[in-house]
Amino acid sequence: MGTIRENIRTIEMRIAEAAEAAGRDPKDVTLIAVTKTRSAEEINQAIEAGATDIGENKVQEILDKFDQIQGPVRWHMIGHLQTNKVKYIIDKVDLIHSVDSLHLAEEIDRRAKQHNKTMDILIQVNSAQEESKFGIGTEETEQLLSDILERCENIRIRGFMCIAPYAEEPEEVAVYFRQVKELYDRFGTVKHERLDLKWLSMGMSNDFEIAIREGSSLVRVGTAIFGPRDYGKQI
Ligand SMILES: *Cc1c(COP(=O)(O)O)cnc(C)c1O
Repeated sequence: MGTIRENIRTIEMRIAEAAEAAGRDPKDVTLIAVTKTRSAEEINQAIEAGATDIGENKVQEILDKFDQIQGPVRWHMIGHLQTNKVKYIIDKVDLIHSVDSLHLAEEIDRRAKQHNKTMDILIQVNSAQEESKFGIGTEETEQLLSDILERCENIRIRGFMCIAPYAEEPEEVAVYFRQVKELYDRFGTVKHERLDLKWLSMGMSNDFEIAIREGSSLVRVGTAIFGPRDYGKQI
């Protein structure tokens, strides 16, 4: 592992190469530095090295670090979000990646309304149908989208998020990314002011190049920037 700065440079290069190999513009892929378990100091180093987007998977970590981060930076809630915690982050995050129920969407909508804002969200799709993961099945997507559009006026749906299963051979996960890209293309043709698809959040340290090839525009990378996580030392 190099320094945080070196690692970010390396990943930016790998992103650019993967995009170009797929005939895509590297500018169409945004890197989210996933900062769970990392100190505010490490996060600020990443920002100094050019990180513009940071992702956390726990509400408590966002609250602990929020005031110590030297922005401007976009905050992404990438982990499972409990309904009773929406109120703590509604005014802090720019994009919630993990909406997988109408119940959660309605609470986000209610809190967004109180703050006079429209919250951008992604629908989390569990295309591999792994029991252990959150997210809806691909076949449930249409119903959830239409329910949210009908009932949640302060939500704008910006795309989909997917966490691929772990695979020794990253190529094995391409099929799961492809299924989510198909949803993105399909619902991208629907005309609705609150269904404004822009983001496909797919790919982590071990599979982001394949995700980019399959159409990802938001890659969530932690370990390859900051090194292995030490959960024992979690702040
Ligand atoms: C931790 C996490 C990541 C980053 O994983 P790495 O393998 O460390 O790159 C991406 N997405 C989600 C939802 C995560 O929780």
